[in-house]
Amino acid sequence: MNTVPMWTLNNGVEIPATGYGVFKVKEGDEVFRSVLEALEAGYRLIDTAAIYGNEEGVGRAIKASGLKREEIFLTTKLWNTDQGYDKAFEAFETSLKKLDTDYVDLYLVHWPGKDKYVESYKALEKLYQGKRVRAIGVCNFHIHHLEKLLEETTIVPAMNQIELHPLMNQEEIRTFCKEKGIQVEAWGPLMQGKADLEAPLLVELSKKYKKSPAQIILRWHVQHGVLAIPKSVTPSRIRENIDLFDFELTSEDMAKIDGMNENKRLSADPDTMMNGFE
Ligand code: NDP
Repeated sequence: MNTVPMWTLNNGVEIPATGYGVFKVKEGDEVFRSVLEALEAGYRLIDTAAIYGNEEGVGRAIKASGLKREEIFLTTKLWNTDQGYDKAFEAFETSLKKLDTDYVDLYLVHWPGKDKYVESYKALEKLYQGKRVRAIGVCNFHIHHLEKLLEETTIVPAMNQIELHPLMNQEEIRTFCKEKGIQVEAWGPLMQGKADLEAPLLVELSKKYKKSPAQIILRWHVQHGVLAIPKSVTPSRIRENIDLFDFELTSEDMAKIDGMNENKRLSADPDTMMNGFE
C-alpha cells in the first residue's frame, strides 16, 4: 500500500498530496468497488460532487472500508442549481445524508456561474464557522472570480479546483493562488482520456524513469505543488496513479513538461459554463 505525504491548507488542516476522483463513476456497484479499491491502494482523499450522483456509493464504501471516518479526507461540491444562500444549506444537508456522514472535510462551490457565487460562498462560510466542514473552497474560478470573492467575503478559500494538465498548465492562476495561500487542485489531471498520454516526450520520460506516462504527469503535478485527483475504474490504474512518491523528475524534465502547454481547454470554460444557472 502507498503512503501519501500530507500537505497543509491555509487553515492548518492537513490534506493528502494526491486523491481519487469519481466523476462519471456510476452509482451502485461501480463506485462502491472503485472507492474501496482506492482506499485499499492507500488513497485517503475522495473527491465527489452532488451532481456526480454517486455520493451514496461513496459513503457506503467508506463505511465498508473499516477505516475511521477521520482517516479519510472527503470532498463534495455544491451544484449550480443549488446556488444561493438558503439553497446551499439544504444542498449541504442532502449531500451529508447521502454520504452518511456528519461532516465533510472540504465543501466546494462547483462552478462560478454569473452572479450567485458570492452569496453561495457566504453560506459555506457559515457552515465552516459552525464546524460542519473542515475547509471551504471553490472550483473553476478564474482570477477575476477570486478577486471578487476575496473582496466581498471574509474567509480565503482553502482550495481552487481547476482543469489543469500538461496541455493547460494554468501558470497564471497557480501564481495568483500561491500568493493568496489558496491550494490548487487539478481536475482532469490526466486530460480526461481526451488527449494522447503517449506523446513522444511522455514516452521518452516514461522510459527514463521506468514509470508510466500517467505517473510522469501525476508526478509533475506533485512537484508543482498541485493536488491531482485522477479518476479510474481500472484497479491496476488506481494503484498505478498513487505510486508516485519513490521518484523525482529533474528540473529540466519539469520544464520540458511545462513546455507542452498550449492553453488548451479540454472541457467547459468557467466564463461560459452556465448549466443550471439559467
Ligand atoms: P482524469 O484526467 O482523471 O482522466 C480520467 C480518464 O483517464 C479515464 O478515462 C480513465 O480511464 C483514464 N485513466 C486513469 N488512469 C489512467 C492511467 N494510469 N493510464 C491511462 N489512462 C488512465 O479526468 P477526470 O475528469 O475524471 O478528473 C479527475 C477528477 O476531477 C474527477 O473524477 C472529479 O473528481 C474531478 N473533476 C472536477 C471537475 C470540477 O468541475 N470541479 C470537473 C471534472 C472532474 P478508466 O477509468 O477507464 O481507467
